[in-house]
Amino acid sequence: MRILILGGTAEARQLAGRLAARAALRVTLSLAGRTASPAAQPVPVRSGGFGGAQGLAAYLAAERIELLIDATHPYAAQISANAARASELAQTKLLAVRRVPWAAVAGDRWTDVADVEHAARALGAKSRRVFLALGRNEIAPFAQAPQHHYLVRSVDAVEPPLAVPHARYITARGPFSEADDRQLLHENKIDVVVCKNSGGISSYGKIAAARTLGLPVIMLKRPELPDVPAVETVDAAVAWIDHALASGMARGV
Ligand code: NAP
Repeated sequence: MRILILGGTAEARQLAGRLAARAALRVTLSLAGRTASPAAQPVPVRSGGFGGAQGLAAYLAAERIELLIDATHPYAAQISANAARASELAQTKLLAVRRVPWAAVAGDRWTDVADVEHAARALGAKSRRVFLALGRNEIAPFAQAPQHHYLVRSVDAVEPPLAVPHARYITARGPFSEADDRQLLHENKIDVVVCKNSGGISSYGKIAAARTLGLPVIMLKRPELPDVPAVETVDAAVAWIDHALASGMARGV
């Protein structure tokens, strides 16, 4: 069975690793190609956009993909929409792997906002020291709130830098521990954290650290994703695939 995993996440890499050794499967992993030095992957990788849903559907047909797995980041709504449409166009089965969002617990001080523009406004008029844990392509709206001091952590360098007088940058790839993130927030006298509700453990450190330090978190709401067959974990995805294989999917039954 030929499988294409849309990736860029830890789950995609782990799932590829679990499937790599299986003789009955031929697995390819697709990356958006935005990260300068992407993490090593356990299966062959193709990189870069497909050219929308039509382009992805054409790829699925040309490569005779029988199962498309959308294991992209929960905020990567465009590629997830494309995957749903392409699976219809190419008549390819689709499974999404969707991390459960974090839920606020006692001590969390979260404000949910619709998008980055609302996050920038939610910081308020008074100057604050802000930790931005967002992708480098997402932070431009904070230029509209130049009164704040920003500490930006992203996987790749922010180029060009944010057009504000006070911004510093850290490039780092998770996982991030609570202890390290607590130290980071404390040493930089951070007043407020802005981030996505990514779910999972690798970027939860800042959430737990903010709670411990009593800091507010401005949380970007998750985007709407298409209603497709989905599981929440890599284990569940493997079980789903095993079931599909056992029920004869690879033979087109
Ligand atoms: P997106 O807005 O959903 O995708 C934009 C376009 O990028 C897609 O239409 C597609 O281009 C291409 N693309 C995305 N993922 C791809 C993949 N796995 N393989 C091939 N092409 C892919 O997603 P995004 O721009 O990557 O990210 C949006 C949000 O998700 C941001 O908040 C970002 O920080 C977060 N995020 C994404 C990833 C990731 O791996 N994608 C990882 C961590 C965080 P075509 O239409 O040309 O096919």
